[in-house]
Amino acid sequence: MSHTAPTSFDSARVTTPAYVVDLALLKKNLTLLHHVQEASGAKILLALKGFSMFSTFGLVREYLHGCCASGLNEALLAHHEFGKEVHVYCPAFKEAEMEQILPIACHISFNSLAQWQRFKPVLEAVEGNRPSPGLRVNPELSTVEVALYDPCSPGCRLGTRDIELEGADLTGLEGLHFHALCEQNSDVLERVIESVERRFPKFLKQVKWVNMGGGHHITKPGYDVERLVRIVKAFRERHNVEVYLEPGEAIALNTGYLVTSVLDIVGAEEKTAILDTSATCHMPDVLEMPYRPQIIGAGLPGEHAHTYKLGGTSCLAGDVIGAYSFPEPLQLGQKLVFTDMGHYTMVKTTTFNGVPHPDIDTYDPATEELRVVRRFGYEDFRNRLS
Ligand SMILES: *Cc1c(COP(=O)(O)O)cnc(C)c1O
Repeated sequence: MSHTAPTSFDSARVTTPAYVVDLALLKKNLTLLHHVQEASGAKILLALKGFSMFSTFGLVREYLHGCCASGLNEALLAHHEFGKEVHVYCPAFKEAEMEQILPIACHISFNSLAQWQRFKPVLEAVEGNRPSPGLRVNPELSTVEVALYDPCSPGCRLGTRDIELEGADLTGLEGLHFHALCEQNSDVLERVIESVERRFPKFLKQVKWVNMGGGHHITKPGYDVERLVRIVKAFRERHNVEVYLEPGEAIALNTGYLVTSVLDIVGAEEKTAILDTSATCHMPDVLEMPYRPQIIGAGLPGEHAHTYKLGGTSCLAGDVIGAYSFPEPLQLGQKLVFTDMGHYTMVKTTTFNGVPHPDIDTYDPATEELRVVRRFGYEDFRNRLS
């Protein structure tokens, strides 16, 4: 299928490579998430893991309650750049990190009972701001097909299992956290909730808040929003708890682009266009997940008259984005626009091979302002090495 939805901005204006986030599209997602909060009573947090573009936080902050951080660095980013509530979960905390996390966090979720027991005295000794402690549980309901992204695969290290809670002293824990979804609809959440209620009935009675993690594909067309609202409302009433959702992807879904230029075209029979971007450095999920990103105006191989493989500028042989076809032959210097590049891209980039890092831009359709928020150079590359 040829992807034809035009960008609102003119790619000719973009110095490449660049991630461009459309602020109106971001606002559209936030408006929907706001509706979910209003209608369901859930509080929604931005999972920084998926989207940490802090120049947009002024906007995001108007809609969401805070951030969820996966450790000290993200907690500091949440505190300094976002403000509001800082929720922290990490598979394992270190003591030195905890010292810095305690003054800025409002909720801390531990991955294991051992971690909770270890930090319980530290938490109890805190004067002033004392974060509310929770435990991440593992609902043991595997719903994610790609094992790399399945937090409930057999033997997965994430979350405590019901059998580990038998006879354990849970005094002091105020929250239950689970994260079991990835890009899923609300019917799957419903099944996960059933599993949590079946496995952790006693613990649910004790807690004041339940964090239902991320992986809710709320802003994807076709997501059953009203079902999510019903589920969360009923859950809150059934258990008399505060409910948090912490999606990452849903905040930035379909809001960002990666604009790139054709640098060279090589190969005799099978043509490869080399772009000023890189799958491995700038869109690693293309190789990791793996998936095929869309390009505006391009189709599947053979769909249009001119088919090319698209490759990156790193020296990795497999730095190939895929094969795409175009109605006209590609020209040197031509801009190509990859869609849906806002989330799990900027947060995952590397400067492997010294590949230049894309600019980070915003576009505001109301004013037509295309702003280069950040441009990276040699110093940024050098500063990650020594
Ligand atoms: C990854 C993650 C999220 C965000 O997931 P999305 O798929 O981006 O919505 C939220 N909470 C936890 C604990 C996570 O690991």
